[in-house]
Amino acid sequence: MSKDRINLLGFTYDSLVDFFQSLGEPSFRASQLMKWVHQRGIIDFDKMTDFSVNLRSQLSEVAEIRPPKIEECLTSPEGTKKYLIKLDSGSMIEMVKIPEKKRLTLCISSQAGCALQCTFCATGDQGFERNLTNSEIIGQLWLANFNDLYSQPISNVVFMGMGEPLLNIEPVLASINLMQHQNAYGLSKRRITLSTSGIVPEIEKLASRTDVSLAISLHAANNSLRDEIVPINKKYPIDQLLNSCKQYLKNKSKRQTITIEYILIDGVNDSIEHAKELVKVLKGLSCKVNLIPFNPFDGSNYARSLDETIQAFKDFLIQKEIITTLRITRGDAIDGACGQLVGKLTKSIKGKNKSNSINLINTS
Ligand code: SAH
Ligand code: SF4
Repeated sequence: MSKDRINLLGFTYDSLVDFFQSLGEPSFRASQLMKWVHQRGIIDFDKMTDFSVNLRSQLSEVAEIRPPKIEECLTSPEGTKKYLIKLDSGSMIEMVKIPEKKRLTLCISSQAGCALQCTFCATGDQGFERNLTNSEIIGQLWLANFNDLYSQPISNVVFMGMGEPLLNIEPVLASINLMQHQNAYGLSKRRITLSTSGIVPEIEKLASRTDVSLAISLHAANNSLRDEIVPINKKYPIDQLLNSCKQYLKNKSKRQTITIEYILIDGVNDSIEHAKELVKVLKGLSCKVNLIPFNPFDGSNYARSLDETIQAFKDFLIQKEIITTLRITRGDAIDGACGQLVGKLTKSIKGKNKSNSINLINTS
Protein backbone atom coordinates (compact mmCIF):
# COMPACT_ATOMS: atom_id res chain seq x y z
CA MET A 1 0.00 0.00 0.00
CA SER A 2 1.38 3.36 -0.96
CA LYS A 3 2.11 5.68 1.93
CA ASP A 4 1.20 8.70 -0.21
CA ARG A 5 -2.45 7.85 -0.69
CA ILE A 6 -4.90 10.07 1.17
CA ASN A 7 -6.93 8.29 3.81
CA LEU A 8 -10.53 9.43 3.23
CA LEU A 9 -12.01 7.68 6.28
CA GLY A 10 -12.08 10.81 8.44
CA PHE A 11 -13.13 13.27 5.71
CA THR A 12 -16.28 15.26 6.48
CA TYR A 13 -18.90 15.87 3.78
CA ASP A 14 -17.40 19.29 2.94
CA SER A 15 -13.87 17.98 2.64
CA LEU A 16 -15.07 15.10 0.45
CA VAL A 17 -16.85 17.58 -1.83
CA ASP A 18 -13.55 19.48 -2.19
CA PHE A 19 -11.70 16.23 -2.80
CA PHE A 20 -14.07 15.12 -5.57
CA GLN A 21 -14.04 18.58 -7.12
CA SER A 22 -10.25 18.35 -7.33
CA LEU A 23 -10.79 15.20 -9.43
CA GLY A 24 -13.32 17.03 -11.62
CA GLU A 25 -16.23 15.06 -10.12
CA PRO A 26 -19.63 16.43 -8.99
CA SER A 27 -20.35 17.00 -5.31
CA PHE A 28 -22.93 14.20 -5.01
CA ARG A 29 -20.00 11.75 -5.13
CA ALA A 30 -19.28 12.84 -1.56
CA SER A 31 -22.66 11.52 -0.34
CA GLN A 32 -22.20 8.32 -2.33
CA LEU A 33 -18.78 7.65 -0.82
CA MET A 34 -19.96 8.45 2.72
CA LYS A 35 -22.82 5.97 2.40
CA TRP A 36 -20.55 3.20 1.16
CA VAL A 37 -18.04 3.71 3.92
CA HIS A 38 -20.07 4.74 6.95
CA GLN A 39 -23.43 3.08 6.30
CA ARG A 40 -22.45 -0.13 4.51
CA GLY A 41 -18.92 -0.58 5.84
CA ILE A 42 -17.44 -0.92 2.33
CA ILE A 43 -13.89 0.39 2.07
CA ASP A 44 -12.81 -1.19 -1.22
CA PHE A 45 -13.36 1.27 -4.09
CA ASP A 46 -13.86 -1.65 -6.50
CA LYS A 47 -17.07 -2.57 -4.67
CA MET A 48 -18.56 0.93 -4.98
CA THR A 49 -20.78 0.03 -7.90
CA ASP A 50 -22.30 3.44 -8.51
CA PHE A 51 -18.84 4.80 -9.42
CA SER A 52 -17.62 4.27 -12.99
CA VAL A 53 -14.77 1.83 -13.49
CA ASN A 54 -12.57 4.79 -14.39
CA LEU A 55 -13.37 6.66 -11.22
CA ARG A 56 -12.79 3.56 -9.12
CA SER A 57 -9.32 3.06 -10.54
CA GLN A 58 -8.53 6.76 -10.22
CA LEU A 59 -9.59 6.64 -6.56
CA SER A 60 -7.44 3.59 -5.88
CA GLU A 61 -4.43 5.44 -7.21
CA VAL A 62 -4.74 8.55 -5.09
CA ALA A 63 -6.74 7.53 -2.06
CA GLU A 64 -7.65 4.74 0.34
CA ILE A 65 -10.03 4.09 3.23
CA ARG A 66 -7.84 2.80 6.03
CA PRO A 67 -9.32 2.11 9.46
CA PRO A 68 -7.03 1.42 12.42
CA LYS A 69 -6.43 -2.23 13.37
CA ILE A 70 -7.87 -4.19 16.25
CA GLU A 71 -5.06 -5.88 18.10
CA GLU A 72 -7.17 -7.65 20.72
CA CYS A 73 -10.73 -7.90 21.93
CA LEU A 74 -11.51 -8.84 25.51
CA THR A 75 -15.02 -9.68 26.70
CA SER A 76 -16.22 -9.40 30.29
CA PRO A 77 -18.78 -11.83 31.71
CA GLU A 78 -21.52 -9.14 31.39
CA GLY A 79 -20.83 -8.68 27.67
CA THR A 80 -18.77 -5.49 27.78
CA LYS A 81 -16.09 -5.67 25.11
CA LYS A 82 -12.81 -3.85 25.29
CA TYR A 83 -10.80 -3.44 22.10
CA LEU A 84 -7.12 -2.66 21.97
CA ILE A 85 -6.39 -0.78 18.78
CA LYS A 86 -2.99 -0.38 17.21
CA LEU A 87 -2.37 2.80 15.26
CA ASP A 88 -0.07 3.09 12.25
CA SER A 89 2.51 4.76 14.47
CA GLY A 90 2.51 1.74 16.80
CA SER A 91 0.69 3.56 19.63
CA MET A 92 -2.11 1.67 21.35
CA ILE A 93 -5.52 3.05 22.23
CA GLU A 94 -8.66 1.52 23.69
CA MET A 95 -12.34 1.55 22.94
CA VAL A 96 -15.10 -0.14 24.91
CA LYS A 97 -18.50 -1.42 23.72
CA ILE A 98 -21.09 -1.45 26.48
CA PRO A 99 -24.44 -3.21 25.88
CA GLU A 100 -27.34 -1.85 27.94
CA LYS A 101 -31.06 -2.55 27.74
CA LYS A 102 -31.94 -0.49 24.69
CA ARG A 103 -28.55 0.92 23.84
CA LEU A 104 -25.17 -0.13 22.59
CA THR A 105 -22.73 2.51 23.78
CA LEU A 106 -19.22 2.96 22.43
CA CYS A 107 -16.60 4.66 24.57
CA ILE A 108 -13.87 6.07 22.34
CA SER A 109 -10.42 7.63 22.72
CA SER A 110 -9.35 11.03 21.42
CA GLN A 111 -5.63 10.91 22.23
CA ALA A 112 -2.99 8.22 22.77
CA GLY A 113 -2.25 8.85 26.46
CA CYS A 114 -3.07 12.13 28.20
CA ALA A 115 -0.95 14.98 29.50
CA LEU A 116 -3.26 16.03 32.33
CA GLN A 117 -2.23 13.54 34.99
CA CYS A 118 -5.38 13.20 37.05
CA THR A 119 -4.23 11.14 40.00
CA PHE A 120 -6.97 8.46 39.72
CA CYS A 121 -6.56 7.80 35.99
CA ALA A 122 -4.53 5.06 34.32
CA THR A 123 -4.30 7.06 31.07
CA GLY A 124 -2.88 10.07 32.91
CA ASP A 125 -0.40 7.72 34.56
CA GLN A 126 0.99 6.76 31.12
CA GLY A 127 1.69 10.32 29.98
CA PHE A 128 0.91 11.82 26.57
CA GLU A 129 1.91 10.24 23.26
CA ARG A 130 0.00 12.07 20.56
CA ASN A 131 -3.30 13.41 19.29
CA LEU A 132 -5.47 11.09 17.22
CA THR A 133 -6.37 12.08 13.66
CA ASN A 134 -9.97 12.40 12.34
CA SER A 135 -9.74 8.96 10.79
CA GLU A 136 -8.39 7.36 13.96
CA ILE A 137 -11.31 8.80 15.94
CA ILE A 138 -14.14 7.99 13.50
CA GLY A 139 -12.28 4.77 12.69
CA GLN A 140 -13.21 3.49 16.16
CA LEU A 141 -16.92 3.88 15.40
CA TRP A 142 -16.40 2.32 11.98
CA LEU A 143 -14.64 -0.69 13.54
CA ALA A 144 -17.30 -1.07 16.24
CA ASN A 145 -20.07 -1.14 13.62
CA PHE A 146 -18.47 -3.12 10.83
CA ASN A 147 -15.65 -5.23 12.21
CA ASP A 148 -17.93 -7.39 14.32
CA LEU A 149 -20.54 -8.87 12.00
CA TYR A 150 -22.82 -10.03 14.80
CA SER A 151 -22.96 -6.66 16.51
CA GLN A 152 -25.96 -4.33 16.61
CA PRO A 153 -25.16 -0.85 15.32
CA ILE A 154 -23.76 1.51 17.91
CA SER A 155 -26.55 3.75 19.26
CA ASN A 156 -24.53 6.06 21.56
CA VAL A 157 -20.98 7.38 21.58
CA VAL A 158 -19.13 8.79 24.59
CA PHE A 159 -15.73 10.46 24.49
CA MET A 160 -14.68 8.88 27.76
CA GLY A 161 -11.81 6.75 26.58
CA MET A 162 -8.17 7.76 26.57
CA GLY A 163 -7.25 11.42 26.30
CA GLU A 164 -8.72 14.88 26.73
CA PRO A 165 -10.97 15.58 23.71
CA LEU A 166 -10.84 19.35 24.12
CA LEU A 167 -7.06 19.31 23.69
CA ASN A 168 -7.61 17.76 20.24
CA ILE A 169 -10.66 19.75 19.32
CA GLU A 170 -10.58 19.97 15.48
CA PRO A 171 -10.33 16.21 14.80
CA VAL A 172 -12.89 15.59 17.56
CA LEU A 173 -15.35 18.06 15.97
CA ALA A 174 -14.76 16.58 12.50
CA SER A 175 -15.54 13.10 13.83
CA ILE A 176 -18.66 14.42 15.63
CA ASN A 177 -19.74 15.94 12.32
CA LEU A 178 -19.52 12.50 10.70
CA MET A 179 -21.28 10.82 13.63
CA GLN A 180 -24.23 13.19 13.18
CA HIS A 181 -24.30 13.36 9.38
CA GLN A 182 -27.34 11.78 7.70
CA ASN A 183 -25.13 10.13 5.06
CA ALA A 184 -22.89 8.64 7.75
CA TYR A 185 -24.05 7.49 11.21
CA GLY A 186 -26.97 9.93 11.76
CA LEU A 187 -26.65 9.98 15.57
CA SER A 188 -28.62 12.72 17.30
CA LYS A 189 -26.97 15.22 19.65
CA ARG A 190 -28.36 13.41 22.69
CA ARG A 191 -26.60 10.23 21.67
CA ILE A 192 -23.12 11.75 21.66
CA THR A 193 -21.42 12.83 24.89
CA LEU A 194 -18.14 14.66 25.10
CA SER A 195 -16.45 14.33 28.49
CA THR A 196 -13.87 16.87 29.57
CA SER A 197 -11.78 17.55 32.64
CA GLY A 198 -12.54 21.23 32.06
CA ILE A 199 -10.55 23.15 29.44
CA VAL A 200 -12.56 26.34 29.91
CA PRO A 201 -11.61 28.34 26.75
CA GLU A 202 -12.39 25.30 24.60
CA ILE A 203 -15.79 24.77 26.28
CA GLU A 204 -16.55 28.39 25.44
CA LYS A 205 -15.60 27.79 21.78
CA LEU A 206 -17.52 24.54 21.68
CA ALA A 207 -20.87 26.20 22.32
CA SER A 208 -20.93 27.79 18.86
CA ARG A 209 -19.60 24.71 17.08
CA THR A 210 -21.63 21.77 18.37
CA ASP A 211 -24.70 20.82 20.36
CA VAL A 212 -23.68 17.40 21.67
CA SER A 213 -24.11 16.53 25.34
CA LEU A 214 -21.36 17.70 27.63
CA ALA A 215 -20.02 15.79 30.65
CA ILE A 216 -17.67 17.41 33.12
CA SER A 217 -15.21 15.35 35.15
CA LEU A 218 -15.59 17.32 38.36
CA HIS A 219 -14.62 14.74 41.02
CA ALA A 220 -14.18 17.37 43.73
CA ALA A 221 -16.21 20.44 44.69
CA ASN A 222 -13.52 22.53 46.38
CA ASN A 223 -10.48 23.94 44.63
CA SER A 224 -7.81 22.64 46.99
CA LEU A 225 -8.94 19.02 46.58
CA ARG A 226 -9.61 19.38 42.84
CA ASP A 227 -6.17 21.01 42.35
CA GLU A 228 -4.73 17.82 43.76
CA ILE A 229 -6.72 15.14 41.92
CA VAL A 230 -7.51 16.98 38.64
CA PRO A 231 -4.42 19.25 38.29
CA ILE A 232 -5.84 21.22 35.31
CA ASN A 233 -8.04 22.83 37.98
CA LYS A 234 -5.07 25.05 38.95
CA LYS A 235 -5.43 26.68 35.55
CA TYR A 236 -9.24 26.60 35.28
CA PRO A 237 -10.80 26.55 38.75
CA ILE A 238 -14.29 25.30 39.59
CA ASP A 239 -16.22 28.59 39.38
CA GLN A 240 -14.82 29.36 35.90
CA LEU A 241 -15.54 25.80 34.80
CA LEU A 242 -19.15 25.78 35.97
CA ASN A 243 -19.72 29.23 34.46
CA SER A 244 -18.54 27.95 31.10
CA CYS A 245 -21.05 25.08 31.46
CA LYS A 246 -23.85 27.60 31.99
CA GLN A 247 -22.70 29.45 28.87
CA TYR A 248 -22.68 26.17 26.94
CA LEU A 249 -26.33 25.58 27.82
CA LYS A 250 -27.40 29.08 26.77
CA ASN A 251 -29.49 29.00 23.59
CA LYS A 252 -29.69 25.21 23.80
CA SER A 253 -33.01 23.43 24.31
CA LYS A 254 -34.41 23.47 27.85
CA ARG A 255 -34.13 19.70 28.00
CA GLN A 256 -30.37 19.76 27.66
CA THR A 257 -28.38 19.36 30.88
CA ILE A 258 -24.73 18.92 31.79
CA THR A 259 -23.62 15.60 33.26
CA ILE A 260 -21.33 16.00 36.24
CA GLU A 261 -19.05 12.99 36.66
CA TYR A 262 -17.85 12.30 40.17
CA ILE A 263 -15.56 9.38 40.95
CA LEU A 264 -15.90 8.13 44.51
CA ILE A 265 -12.49 7.44 46.02
CA ASP A 266 -12.25 5.96 49.50
CA GLY A 267 -11.42 8.62 52.11
CA VAL A 268 -10.56 11.26 49.48
CA ASN A 269 -13.79 12.86 48.19
CA ASP A 270 -16.60 10.64 49.44
CA SER A 271 -17.81 12.08 52.77
CA ILE A 272 -21.15 13.77 53.40
CA GLU A 273 -19.20 17.04 53.81
CA HIS A 274 -17.98 16.58 50.22
CA ALA A 275 -21.54 15.86 49.08
CA LYS A 276 -22.69 19.10 50.77
CA GLU A 277 -19.99 21.07 48.93
CA LEU A 278 -21.07 19.47 45.69
CA VAL A 279 -24.71 20.47 46.18
CA LYS A 280 -23.57 24.02 46.91
CA VAL A 281 -21.38 24.48 43.83
CA LEU A 282 -23.96 22.97 41.48
CA LYS A 283 -26.67 25.43 42.50
CA GLY A 284 -28.04 27.23 39.43
CA LEU A 285 -26.61 24.76 36.90
CA SER A 286 -29.01 22.52 34.98
CA CYS A 287 -27.27 19.20 35.55
CA LYS A 288 -27.39 15.62 36.70
CA VAL A 289 -24.68 13.84 38.66
CA ASN A 290 -23.18 10.53 37.61
CA LEU A 291 -21.36 8.85 40.49
CA ILE A 292 -18.59 6.46 39.45
CA PRO A 293 -16.98 4.11 41.94
CA PHE A 294 -13.19 4.38 41.51
CA ASN A 295 -11.82 1.48 39.47
CA PRO A 296 -8.45 0.47 40.95
CA PHE A 297 -5.37 -0.15 38.76
CA ASP A 298 -1.80 -1.21 39.42
CA GLY A 299 0.35 1.56 40.76
CA SER A 300 -2.55 3.59 42.14
CA ASN A 301 -2.75 4.26 45.87
CA TYR A 302 -6.50 4.83 45.89
CA ALA A 303 -9.33 2.43 46.71
CA ARG A 304 -12.99 2.28 45.71
CA SER A 305 -15.35 3.82 48.27
CA LEU A 306 -17.28 1.36 50.43
CA ASP A 307 -20.77 0.44 49.18
CA GLU A 308 -22.45 2.07 52.17
CA THR A 309 -20.47 5.29 51.63
CA ILE A 310 -21.47 5.35 47.96
CA GLN A 311 -25.11 4.80 48.88
CA ALA A 312 -25.04 7.55 51.54
CA PHE A 313 -23.44 10.00 49.08
CA LYS A 314 -26.04 9.20 46.46
CA ASP A 315 -28.96 9.42 48.93
CA PHE A 316 -27.74 12.82 50.13
CA LEU A 317 -27.70 14.26 46.61
CA ILE A 318 -31.13 12.82 45.81
CA GLN A 319 -32.52 14.23 49.03
CA LYS A 320 -31.24 17.63 47.86
CA GLU A 321 -33.18 17.11 44.61
CA ILE A 322 -30.19 16.52 42.39
CA ILE A 323 -30.83 13.89 39.73
CA THR A 324 -28.18 11.31 40.53
CA THR A 325 -27.20 8.05 38.89
CA LEU A 326 -24.64 5.50 39.95
CA ARG A 327 -22.58 4.02 37.14
CA ILE A 328 -22.66 0.29 37.51
CA THR A 329 -19.09 -0.82 37.31
CA ARG A 330 -18.90 -3.01 34.28
CA GLY A 331 -15.99 -4.87 32.91
CA ASP A 332 -13.83 -4.73 36.06
CA ALA A 333 -12.39 -8.03 34.90
CA ILE A 334 -11.23 -6.38 31.68
CA ASP A 335 -9.89 -3.24 33.35
CA GLY A 336 -13.09 -1.34 32.63
CA ALA A 337 -11.94 2.27 32.91
CA CYS A 338 -10.17 3.32 29.75
CA GLY A 339 -6.41 3.44 29.78
CA GLN A 340 -6.15 0.60 32.23
CA LEU A 341 -5.49 -2.15 29.73
CA VAL A 342 -2.97 -0.19 27.67
CA GLY A 343 -1.34 0.80 30.97
CA LYS A 344 -1.11 -2.80 32.05
CA LEU A 345 0.30 -3.94 28.72
CA THR A 346 2.85 -1.13 28.66
CA LYS A 347 3.95 -1.94 32.18
CA SER A 348 4.26 -5.66 31.53
CA ILE A 349 6.13 -4.97 28.28
CA LYS A 350 8.54 -2.74 30.18
CA GLY A 351 8.97 -5.68 32.58
CA LYS A 352 7.94 -3.64 35.60
CA ASN A 353 4.99 -5.80 36.24
CA LYS A 354 5.81 -9.32 35.21
CA SER A 355 3.76 -11.05 37.88
CA ASN A 356 0.61 -9.28 36.78
CA SER A 357 -0.26 -11.26 33.70
CA ILE A 358 -3.37 -10.35 31.77
CA ASN A 359 -5.82 -13.07 32.56
CA LEU A 360 -8.84 -12.35 30.42
CA ILE A 361 -11.12 -13.94 27.94
CA ASN A 362 -9.67 -13.22 24.53
CA THR A 363 -12.31 -13.17 21.85
CA SER A 364 -10.37 -11.69 19.00
N1 SAH B 1 -10.28 13.37 29.58
C1 SAH B 1 -11.68 13.36 29.64
C2 SAH B 1 -12.30 12.13 29.01
C3 SAH B 1 -11.63 10.83 29.28
S1 SAH B 1 -11.58 10.32 30.98
C4 SAH B 1 -12.18 13.54 31.06
O1 SAH B 1 -11.35 13.50 31.98
O2 SAH B 1 -13.38 13.73 31.22
C5 SAH B 1 -13.30 10.01 31.20
C6 SAH B 1 -13.67 9.45 32.52
O3 SAH B 1 -12.95 8.26 32.81
C7 SAH B 1 -13.40 10.31 33.75
O4 SAH B 1 -14.32 11.28 34.05
C8 SAH B 1 -13.61 9.27 34.77
O5 SAH B 1 -15.00 9.27 34.97
C9 SAH B 1 -13.22 7.97 34.14
N2 SAH B 1 -12.11 7.38 34.84
C10 SAH B 1 -10.77 7.60 34.69
N3 SAH B 1 -10.07 6.84 35.56
C11 SAH B 1 -10.97 6.12 36.25
C12 SAH B 1 -10.88 5.14 37.28
N4 SAH B 1 -9.69 4.75 37.74
N5 SAH B 1 -12.01 4.64 37.79
C13 SAH B 1 -13.22 5.01 37.31
N6 SAH B 1 -13.39 5.91 36.31
C14 SAH B 1 -12.27 6.45 35.80
FE1 SF4 C 1 -6.67 12.79 31.05
FE2 SF4 C 1 -9.31 12.47 31.53
FE3 SF4 C 1 -7.51 10.75 32.54
FE4 SF4 C 1 -7.64 13.22 33.51
S1 SF4 C 1 -9.26 11.66 33.61
S2 SF4 C 1 -5.74 12.11 32.96
S3 SF4 C 1 -8.11 14.38 31.68
S4 SF4 C 1 -7.96 11.07 30.39
